[in-house]
Amino acid sequence: MRNYQHILLAVDYSKQGRYVADKAKSLASLYHAKLSIIHVLDNIPMPDTNYGTVISLTQTSSDELLETEKAKFTRLGDYLAVDLVNRWLLWGVPKQEIIHIAEQEQADLIVVGSHGRHGLALLLGSTANSVLHYAKCDVMAIRLKN
Ligand code: AMP
Repeated sequence: MRNYQHILLAVDYSKQGRYVADKAKSLASLYHAKLSIIHVLDNIPMPDTNYGTVISLTQTSSDELLETEKAKFTRLGDYLAVDLVNRWLLWGVPKQEIIHIAEQEQADLIVVGSHGRHGLALLLGSTANSVLHYAKCDVMAIRLKN
């Protein structure tokens, strides 16, 4: 079997995010693969759009939220020793952007966390399920405890 050469880790900073990140890091070391990380901002209003009023959460401005997101992302990237050019922080719909960057950067494995949803929650969809169904490369779902 050909080793994985480029692993893309999708991060959402959930409680068990570090656990998923550590697994991706171990896999990258095992396969001597390049490690990239992606976080998609879907809860901060995108600047310079026509969507009208920015929804502010309490007193925090979207700029401050963005700075917080950048700082978290930088901390994780530094922790995993990911090259700056392999860190993707962007706006959009997580499932779409994860798949898009994986294709653009020719990742051959995407690592996501998975809560193992059932029933209605599964039907409604999750990032992990969508990536699993639509990615053209392999996807590793790290089972998370609910
Ligand atoms: P979910 O299916 O939405 O519970 O998310 C499961 C996994 O999808 C997470 O553990 C991450 O690997 C990935 N994910 C979810 N949201 C995002 C996001 N905004 N940016 C990047 N990856 C995400």
